[in-house]
Amino acid sequence: MREDTIAAIATAPGEGAIGVVRISGPGATGIAKRIGLGSLRDRRARFAHFRDPASGAALDEGIALLMRGPRSYTGEDVVELQGHGGSRVLRRLFEATLCAGARAAEPGEFTLRAFLNGRLDLAQAEAVLALVQARTDVAADLALAGLQGKLTGPLRAARTAALELLAYLSARADFPDEDVPLRDIGPELAALGDRLERLAAEAEYGLLQREGASIAIVGRPNAGKSSLLNRLLRQDRAIVTPVPGTTRDTLEETANLGGLRVVLTDTAGIRETTDAVERLGVERSRAAAAASDLLLLVIDASTPLNDDDRSLLALAASAPSIAALNKLDLGALVAPGAPELDGICALPVSALTGEGLDALERELHRAIIGERRPPASGAALSTLRQRDAARRALTSVRAACEGFAAGAPEDLLSVDLAAAVRALGELTGEDATEDLLDTIFTRFCIGK
Ligand code: GDP
Repeated sequence: MREDTIAAIATAPGEGAIGVVRISGPGATGIAKRIGLGSLRDRRARFAHFRDPASGAALDEGIALLMRGPRSYTGEDVVELQGHGGSRVLRRLFEATLCAGARAAEPGEFTLRAFLNGRLDLAQAEAVLALVQARTDVAADLALAGLQGKLTGPLRAARTAALELLAYLSARADFPDEDVPLRDIGPELAALGDRLERLAAEAEYGLLQREGASIAIVGRPNAGKSSLLNRLLRQDRAIVTPVPGTTRDTLEETANLGGLRVVLTDTAGIRETTDAVERLGVERSRAAAAASDLLLLVIDASTPLNDDDRSLLALAASAPSIAALNKLDLGALVAPGAPELDGICALPVSALTGEGLDALERELHRAIIGERRPPASGAALSTLRQRDAARRALTSVRAACEGFAAGAPEDLLSVDLAAAVRALGELTGEDATEDLLDTIFTRFCIGK
């Protein structure tokens, strides 16, 4: 248990109906007394006047709540002061808690204490951050399931299975004379590999839902990129004009595509040109295409394909792409499956009338999601770090599996299994170093 008591403003800056100052640690109730709260009862809200501990001057009035440890968020005594949600009034209240003996909390320190006091494991603590940062319902649902501990079971089960195998191998190495009976650990290794395969695959889904995806919209000038972007955004953001080459800068907008957050980049038309400004746009287009997860190639299908379209089709053929055969309302000269499309998935649409837009959105969503499937447990690892740790664990167990099948010495298998245990321990927190905790918790906001 930590000796000092921390305090922070826990609500977001700016004006709001209510603002919360949170205090946690052994001195929480003492500090509450010093700012005028008298004695508080566990889990009872009380209306109170908050006062400056030095002068006794009134600072604000509101609700005070005591949650005695260990039945609190951090596992320590926690006092929450709900005052008025203004920046100055909250600041004064916060400073009063410091004056009364609290220390200003570091980012994420309340959640770090919850983790260190065993209230949450590391996967749950990281789910707290994921929930706060979630920008879509799917991401929020995944994070909430993680916070409720739905990752805890699968992670622990995998780590325990790896530990048991490691213990068996160590026993055989350490006590060669005593008969540790030889057993066929092949099926156990394979089952563990399958578990980790699932965790790692679900992490890909979690990461995508948390971070979103990017789509670069490319096409020759006047193909209808800006019009299509506006359709996908359901608003008029990109300027649409009949003069080719109007969209010279790239434009980034965020859209919700079937529940998935997608950043759409509208690029200037990719076209070889001598015009200096236009060429800059061309370069940006290629760069945006290279940096995105999916390319949406817009083709004006009411006119025959020209050289620009052909060079863009070549670009599209080398990356995950979908072609929108636009201006369907004017009649289509290019149809899906046409040989010139080079096998690229193409859908007829009209950005003007909206025809074909639903099917296009579904196809874009399908193309981005790919093989990723929602986790059966409802929760998924969702940061790059977590995904990489899951992959490391999987790689190590796969290596142990192959080693075992090839009759590798048992101490080599132990090395792989120990690496898997460590990687899983970095997810549950059992093998988290101070540096790792630092990296994780500094990403939280102050007061969380
Ligand atoms: P961009 O240069 O590729 O961004 O093309 P814009 O979106 O600015 O569109 C160029 C012109 O084509 C504008 O006059 C649009 O109104 C028109 N346009 C775009 N999509 C369609 C469509 O589906 N049907 C018709 N008839 N015109 C369209």
